[in-house]
Amino acid sequence: MTIAALIVAAGRGTRAGGDLPKQYARLDTQTVLGWVLAAFGELDEIAHIQVVIHPDDASVYDQAVPADALKLLPPVPGGATRQLSVLAGLEALASKAVTKVLIHDAARPFVNADTIRKVIAALDAHPGALAAVPLADTLKRAAAGELVAKTIPRTGLWRAQTPQGFRFDDILNAHRKAAVSGRDDFTDDAAIAEWAGLPVFLVEDSPTNFKITTPVDLRMAKKLILTSPAPALLPCAGTGFDVHRFCPGDHVMLGGVRIPHTHALEGHSDADVVLHALTDAVLGALGEGDIGQHFPPSDAKWKGAASHLFLEDAVARVMRRGGRIANADVTVLCEAPKIGPHRDAIRASVARIMGLDPGRVGVKATTTEGLGFTGRREGIAAMASVMLLLP
Ligand code: MG
Repeated sequence: MTIAALIVAAGRGTRAGGDLPKQYARLDTQTVLGWVLAAFGELDEIAHIQVVIHPDDASVYDQAVPADALKLLPPVPGGATRQLSVLAGLEALASKAVTKVLIHDAARPFVNADTIRKVIAALDAHPGALAAVPLADTLKRAAAGELVAKTIPRTGLWRAQTPQGFRFDDILNAHRKAAVSGRDDFTDDAAIAEWAGLPVFLVEDSPTNFKITTPVDLRMAKKLILTSPAPALLPCAGTGFDVHRFCPGDHVMLGGVRIPHTHALEGHSDADVVLHALTDAVLGALGEGDIGQHFPPSDAKWKGAASHLFLEDAVARVMRRGGRIANADVTVLCEAPKIGPHRDAIRASVARIMGLDPGRVGVKATTTEGLGFTGRREGIAAMASVMLLLP
């Protein structure tokens, strides 16, 4: 018997906030998707994990997936609807001699081993089985003016969650049949199974296996994750230093903030010394080289690049190692421009790029009393330190 997990991550939903779909949002030490992959990957019963992604998300997917994710097949691009995305994933698994498949939403990071095993076990007796929660709330049907028209008895009503498990050939055939019939309005796979005449068994699941859809869901998820047992983390400090010289121009970039000035800073990228020093501090704490190694100035790709890309890459490395960032601190050394008026903007910008609360970002500045190259107004230097917590 070969069991596969099919993770549907092709949605573009950004209602949970930010500009990334919620499955790529960060949840403590991992992305939402990273938690899902870990939950399935750790189970001996699961042989393969197939993720279906949006065709535009290949690079964000690569960043979101932990380097040590187990049993993971290369992702396949999804279709225009959830239903078509699932079909694409099933077709990709068709050559793997899979006997049972568990279809799961990438935005449900709290799926637990117990539920997964119960769904698998139920498939011995039934062609389909889904994780679901009996309704606890009383249901009202609304009429015009938001008046209650009717109270719906909740007896026998369940909320469908995922995973939804099926015998592989049955669900692949049902999906193919639905596609051929021009049906593309099924909102879950149990509904397709039902349409195809396959009996589907309800496996009682925990309400904590909720789908992250809104900013409130994401906040709830962040709270919940803090109560889950975490591996022991060790503090690892890193430092970074960077200098760029002035050249003709009318602004400098510091911490991702555009600051008007009598000169610009010369560099292959946008010459943001603050973000470069922070990138090196993060890479230093990881023991993973420096910015020049990962983004060589000899590579035309980084010409004029916005430096938040470098820092985001370093931060993604922390995540892939299962670590987190405790704080970041930076000192800017220059005679001008004055940093004070821009301090809060720089803090907010660095915090956003690093996924930190602004309270965990320090931004300080000093002149060098007219001494040295910064004193002679030849350029700007920045020093940074970060504290990481790594397993
Ligand atoms: Mg630099």
